[in-house]
Amino acid sequence: MYIQEGKCKICGVPEWKIKRSLQAHRIVPGRSGGLYTIDNVILLCNKCHYHADRDLKQNENKLVN
Ligand SMILES: [Zn+2]
Repeated sequence: MYIQEGKCKICGVPEWKIKRSLQAHRIVPGRSGGLYTIDNVILLCNKCHYHADRDLKQNENKLVN
């Protein structure tokens, strides 16, 4: 896991400010074989984590269509 100084990788909000733990987000999702390894995980706040997962699904839909 990269050292991010306790900040969200996308929006940069510090962990203390959101009063919640940052969440481990897998760049390659589990259903595609992604693991919780150093190279595949970034820390996101709950808001960016939600959008990251949603955007990923939209991209997959685009590939299908
Ligand atoms: Zn964020």
